[in-house]
Amino acid sequence: MAYTSLYRRYRPDNFNDVIGQDHVVRTLVNQIKSGNIGHAYLFTGTRGTGKTSVAKIFSRAVNCLHPVDGSPCGKCEVCMELALSGNFDVLEIDAASNNSVDQIRELTDKINFPPTSGKYKVYIIDEVHMLSKSAHNALLKTLEEPPEHAIFILATTEVHAIPATILSRCMRFDFRLVPLNKIADRLRFIFDDNGVKYTDQAVRMIASAGQGSVRDALSIADMCVSYCSGDITYEGVLEVLGTSDPLKLVALAEDILSGNVDGALNKIAAMCDMGKSMSVLASDLAALFRNALYVKHCASAAELLALPTELNEALRAVAAKHSTDRLLAAMRRMTEMEGEFRYSTQHRILLEAAVIAAATEPRGEEPSSVRELNEKIALLAKRINALPKQGFEPKPAKADAGQAWMKVASDLERKGLGMLVFATSEAQRTEREDALVLTLGSEAAIKLLSVPENRRALGEAVEAHFGKPLVIEENRKIDDDSVIPFLKDMFGKSLEVK
Ligand SMILES: [Zn+2]
Repeated sequence: MAYTSLYRRYRPDNFNDVIGQDHVVRTLVNQIKSGNIGHAYLFTGTRGTGKTSVAKIFSRAVNCLHPVDGSPCGKCEVCMELALSGNFDVLEIDAASNNSVDQIRELTDKINFPPTSGKYKVYIIDEVHMLSKSAHNALLKTLEEPPEHAIFILATTEVHAIPATILSRCMRFDFRLVPLNKIADRLRFIFDDNGVKYTDQAVRMIASAGQGSVRDALSIADMCVSYCSGDITYEGVLEVLGTSDPLKLVALAEDILSGNVDGALNKIAAMCDMGKSMSVLASDLAALFRNALYVKHCASAAELLALPTELNEALRAVAAKHSTDRLLAAMRRMTEMEGEFRYSTQHRILLEAAVIAAATEPRGEEPSSVRELNEKIALLAKRINALPKQGFEPKPAKADAGQAWMKVASDLERKGLGMLVFATSEAQRTEREDALVLTLGSEAAIKLLSVPENRRALGEAVEAHFGKPLVIEENRKIDDDSVIPFLKDMFGKSLEVK
């Protein structure tokens, strides 16, 4: 039996099932009820917030013969017709892969033909910001004088990249991040519906990892269902997310904040040995410092963050002990890492340097010894960046590789395999002459990709967008370059590093 992702199976097919976008739904439903329908709509918002789902529902609702409360009835002949994938009245275009002017012209050339079954022809253009300049112009021409029967729904995650000329023609709807509680409710419903067991803590963890995107949350849920074999526990979710025990992370954060470099480096070493990705660790730490700031300053932090009680208590202790300045500085150090990781393969060294910098950050007025230390750290960071790459070390993936990977991700998502995107998002990608090498760190990712169909789907997508075969490696240790001699060199032999 072919596996259908939860996201696909539970895609809403009427407005009542759309979650977290009441402001959008209300307006659209009113338009349907009053028959006051526009020709051009712009749906903006983060991925996975329901733009395409709402566009699909709307495209059927405007054509439905007997809409129910503004939603398509799903029963009339037009609804039946539009449910078929080959229908000519609702056209979905992914601008990420069809962005040339010719492709848009081909589309707009046919726009004057009337719809075959319903009243309207609806064009849903996804990722519309990806259109080339000339394609945008061709689209604009059509938007200026659309035929009576045409409706355009443009969807984008990057509204700032849409030309003002197009924006001004469209009715704009902003899709919001879906609140954690609503995602959690949806997850409980879906798990119950499938006879999957779960703990409340596990559900909240999945919902929070979705970060406001229903699609992301369901992709993670998919992974959890297959990884935890129908009984989803908090620990299982942590493993799927590649997140180590959050309490260990708090201990590391405490070392950093209290200036315990030795303790911090040891903890990082231990996490590295467990196969933890250093870039994930950096963003986990950034999130933790941010959460501590929430706890310190926001009365409803516990509710907003929806953290497990134990973790909440631990954070509270950290927040009470350290100043806002200190927390902010540490958070900044970690978020700055993101950019640097992109251009280097030496993730561990970079992270260690940042952690040392954060741990030794001056408090209040800066004694000269600390200033000296900071200068040394800056110098260290420079030297690390200038480190020669050893022997046959492959080149890190470049910017266009990032683009190609995004296309791989969008292919997989279209096939309903968003969970593979998640599973591989923290894997290390290395582009070689002859292959794209993916090094998997997490148990969950290794397990998912041991399934032949998954491996094949990923392989095909990589082949299509990188033009070379995929090679999967498992749990190769992240480069353990000799940072310690450098540290000793910089700080003197008295530095104790175990
Ligand atoms: Zn209908």
